[in-house]
Amino acid sequence: MAVKTEFNLKKTRNIGIAAHIDAGKTTTTERILYYTGRIHKIGEVHEGAATMDWMEQERERGITITSAVTTCFWKDHRINIIDTPGHVDFTIEVERSMRVLDGAVAVFDASQGVEPQSETVWRQAEKYRVPRIAFANKMDKTGADIMLVINSMIERLGARPVLMQLPIGREDTFSGIIDLVRMRAYTYGNDLGTDIREVEIPAEYQDQAAEWREKLVEAAADFDEELMMKYLEGEEITEEELKAAIRKGTLSLEITPVFLGSALKNKGVQLLLDAVVDYLPSPLDVPPIKGTTPDGEEITRSPDFDGPLAALAFKIMADPYVGRLTFIRVYSGRITAGSYVYNSTKGKKERVGRLLRMHANHREEVEELKAGDLGAVVGLKDTITGDTLVGENDEPIVLESIDIPEPVIDVAIEPKTKADQEKLTMALARLAEEDPTFRVSTDPESGQTIISGMGELHLEIIVDRLKREFKVDANVGKPQVAYRETITTPVDVEGKFIRQTGGRGQYGHVKIKAEPLPRGGGFEFVNAIVGGVVPKEYIPAVQ
Ligand code: GDP
Repeated sequence: MAVKTEFNLKKTRNIGIAAHIDAGKTTTTERILYYTGRIHKIGEVHEGAATMDWMEQERERGITITSAVTTCFWKDHRINIIDTPGHVDFTIEVERSMRVLDGAVAVFDASQGVEPQSETVWRQAEKYRVPRIAFANKMDKTGADIMLVINSMIERLGARPVLMQLPIGREDTFSGIIDLVRMRAYTYGNDLGTDIREVEIPAEYQDQAAEWREKLVEAAADFDEELMMKYLEGEEITEEELKAAIRKGTLSLEITPVFLGSALKNKGVQLLLDAVVDYLPSPLDVPPIKGTTPDGEEITRSPDFDGPLAALAFKIMADPYVGRLTFIRVYSGRITAGSYVYNSTKGKKERVGRLLRMHANHREEVEELKAGDLGAVVGLKDTITGDTLVGENDEPIVLESIDIPEPVIDVAIEPKTKADQEKLTMALARLAEEDPTFRVSTDPESGQTIISGMGELHLEIIVDRLKREFKVDANVGKPQVAYRETITTPVDVEGKFIRQTGGRGQYGHVKIKAEPLPRGGGFEFVNAIVGGVVPKEYIPAVQ
């Protein structure tokens, strides 16, 4: 049964969890879904194990948890968690999630500090001006040190971290968290999250806590003049005042509040959820999305339930039960099940079948999705990632879309059995439709089928999906990797290239785009090639 859902934008958080691979994104997400699930189903007496069980099952079947968006509830707030992949190969996936989320939790491994991939994701978040809080995970691990995280955030990311908590104990004796806003401590009696107590800050931590609270208040005072006056005059500052100022600083992207814990040992996850609610933006706190009218005029759309519909498709997924799912974010107006919409990117009318909201362990069918919300549409046939949907009779504006990078690696592919050629062609076409960074082409000289993607892992996953989902076994050739380097001048050019190789000309089309490195010192190619491998010598010739 479809339900009409009451929807409070102020109490909505659309967030991503971004991390270097292995930092603990999956574990943190699972714990979040576990704790929010338990709260949501209050009244049902469930011991931890029972709830964890369905998670294992879901994971085995590989559904819902890997959904592009998962909705959960915490303290009267709706939190939509947008999947943000951790591997560098999936830059496009990260970009598209950054486009549709309002805030992010950056998860770090507290024994490693900021790792290279965290730097990449951080840069993308900066580009889309996504406010962030940080979670220093794995505080229980040997070598874990909150100061390592703080210092590497300053040095590697140029961030201004504000420590919000202190650990009690370290490494394998990590057993509690001091909340520097409330000046209270939480101690964990075990690793299961079943024995959590709120206590006074232990005597031996009081000086340290007072010192770090001072720094916290000092940072907060930068965002609130009244608080600054109170601070200078040594007056008492309330929890609410402090939170409001930190929230302001976070939303303006000037500071990053840092929280800590151990997802695996069930420590700090509930406090992290509180922080998501306290410090990350609601859809009303972020600037309206920009778009263009058919006349080329720039316009904006803000979250207005009764305004014209404007939604962006950000992920297509083949679903074993309902077929093709188109994940969308609605920026203004509302989209209704059974209605018609207009895909203004494609210039095509489309029928909306059903609308779904994905939860960790079930799907909810809804009648409509409103401005500020995300969900999945069943029934759209021609809409792909990056397309704008508007109302059937609305002005066909096109929203600022997602930068889709060009693939950087090519491999030749053929079926193990000749008879499978047709099946392979069809399967590749399906996969290319889902994933805009995956391309299929034919080599003009050899006639071989070439697949192109964002990295070796990306193409390995494609080959694996061919086998699992389409039952086609394929052989692949040696990968040819595009050229990337750091250069000293900005370029954004497109052109043809010709290179002589042993008397035989090599033709191709090249497109080069470079972006400044975050800390200066040059530019990095973000987009190197279309349609071939560009030899190193060629690059300077284009500039
Ligand atoms: P992801 O690649 O970022 O999704 O990371 P996972 O959540 O899969 O975690 C990677 C590894 O780190 C797994 O072996 C986890 O069990 C482990 N791990 C995750 N969180 C913690 C933690 O808080 N403490 C410790 N010691 N290990 C953790």
